[in-house]
Amino acid sequence: MKKVTGEKVIYKFSNEMEPVVTVVQGEIVEVHTNDCFFQQIYDESQILESIDYDLLNPATGPIYVEGAEPGDLLKVKVLDIEVDSKSVAAVVAGEGVLGEQVKNPKVRIINIVDGFAIYDKHIKIPIDPMIGVIGVAPAEEDGEWATNSPWKHGGNMDTTDIRTGSTLYFSVNQKGALLALGDCHAAMGDGEMCFTGLEVPAKVLLKLEVIKSKSIKWPIVETKDHTMIIASGDSIDEAIYEASNQAIGHMRDSLDIQWEDAYILGSLVVDLKVSQVVDPKVTVRAAIPKNIVSTKQIIESIVGQ
Ligand code: CA
Ligand code: ZN
Repeated sequence: MKKVTGEKVIYKFSNEMEPVVTVVQGEIVEVHTNDCFFQQIYDESQILESIDYDLLNPATGPIYVEGAEPGDLLKVKVLDIEVDSKSVAAVVAGEGVLGEQVKNPKVRIINIVDGFAIYDKHIKIPIDPMIGVIGVAPAEEDGEWATNSPWKHGGNMDTTDIRTGSTLYFSVNQKGALLALGDCHAAMGDGEMCFTGLEVPAKVLLKLEVIKSKSIKWPIVETKDHTMIIASGDSIDEAIYEASNQAIGHMRDSLDIQWEDAYILGSLVVDLKVSQVVDPKVTVRAAIPKNIVSTKQIIESIVGQ
């Protein structure tokens, strides 16, 4: 097993990243991630405006996966996410869905005890750890992406379904794929409405594999019961269009039915879910139930380039 420590970070996903570790296919890697503030917040008396914004959203890596070539898929199985016992959440004036109503910007330090985040003595949140930022080197034509943005390479997708037990699929754009991740949340509601989740450093265990000669437009996350296409855009409408378009295309191809039949079927069984609306691109996922078509069928039906 390889290990990547938390000081090895990037701030942008680019096609010229220098890998910090190399793994072979099927190898397990332990990745130490920082919280999105790089642990600059440790006291509720701190003002968010006082921290160094250049250090926000570090992603640990990149990890070079041997045998991953452009035109392949990288398969990332999330084996475990172990979060620290101290987490942070905050509101800032003007941020998030209701930002204009914030009169008392504040930072909350929230302890995690026995699987619960202690919001206060009456409110205990069962933790459900997830990875906020995870992605690979972008395609040449996509340029480079700061770690605070989601796009086709992954990045700041802030999707609650990227949790222990899930499997991610990314198109490989550069040799070795160059995977990096960070911004784990101990808990988050769909949408991440005030702009933070329960931000926390974590130890993440991943298993990395390569599927040869397949490519996808947007990242996919496979959960216990669904295959979800995670798409982002400048508006929720744009993200919904992209996620739906990919989902219906995959259903047509994997079930070998006419596009219009896949469209009708999609309307009956596919859930469109909000991932996040604050990053500032927004992210949506289209969830195809595995009892209609399996992830394996979907992946197998993808035509290589
Ligand atoms: Ca995030
Ligand atoms: Zn976060």
